[in-house]
Parts: sequence; C-alpha cells; structure tokens
Amino acid sequence: MSEDCVFCKIVKGELPCYKLYESELVLAFLDINPVTRGHALVVPKRHAERLSQLSGEEVKEVFSVAARVAEASLSKLNARGANFWVNQGSIAGQVVKHFHAHVVPRYSEEEIKIEVRGEKLSEEEMKSVAEKLRLEG
Ligand code: AMP
Repeated sequence: MSEDCVFCKIVKGELPCYKLYESELVLAFLDINPVTRGHALVVPKRHAERLSQLSGEEVKEVFSVAARVAEASLSKLNARGANFWVNQGSIAGQVVKHFHAHVVPRYSEEEIKIEVRGEKLSEEEMKSVAEKLRLEG
C-alpha cells in the first residue's frame, strides 16, 4: 500500500467508489470522470505502478475482469464495443501511479477521437527496432 495513493485509499475503503467487482486480488469501479457511460477502472489491490510489476495472477485477473465489465456494458448498457486502455508513465498520460486498466464502452464512432501519429520507419530502422525489442526465451 502507498500512503498517498488515491487507488490504495479506495481499496482500503478510505475513499468511496462505485464498486463493480471485488476479489482477493483486484477491484473494479467506475471512473469518476467518465469518458463514456460506464467507463470503468480495474486495479490490482496491491500497489504497483507498472504492468511488469504485477504478478501473472494479477495480470490475468485484471484483464479477465476488464473483459467481463466490457461484456456487461454490451449487454446492460447497449454499448457496441469497448476500448481497453493502459497509460504507463507520465509521458503516456498516467496520472494515478497505481496500475489500472481503463474499460471504455463505445457507443458511436464520433465520441472519442484517438489520434495516432504515424511514424514511418525505413526497412533498416524496422529491423533495428525489432532487434532491440526482441525478447529472450
Ligand atoms: P490515468 O490518466 O490513466 O492515470 O487515469 C486515471 C483515471 O483515474 C482518470 O480517468 C480519473 O478520472 C480516474 N480517477 C481519479 N480519481 C478517481 C477516484 N477517486 N475515483 C474514480 N476514478 C478516479
């Protein structure tokens, strides 16, 4: 637990939330500032900032609960799809430094504009990047 972490406080019950699901490992609740109706967050109860710091069990549970929340938004809110988002690091927009997966139900194409700035790489650059990122084992 981290003393001044808002999600740790929610996990401990020191701050309120609109709880959707709770298990031994994870908690799911509505985002207080929803991008769309039903925008939810799924967090591991244990404080960790980055995906790599979660155990395999926590990763599995966070994303299976995210999938279940998205399914509920399809069947109960008439959503037509969902975005699953993780912002990791300030540069990527992570404001709360306690790992969380966003589940954003989608109802129409217009609501959210996700701008992806394409960076075209040469064949050589693609090979070099792939070499650097290739995982062992
Ligand atoms: P991120 O930018 O990925 O760190 O997203 C943090 C998210 O947490 C934002 O979408 C906030 O609206 C949400 N948030 C912050 N405080 C609370 C809170 N007390 N209850 C629910 N959601 C929160």
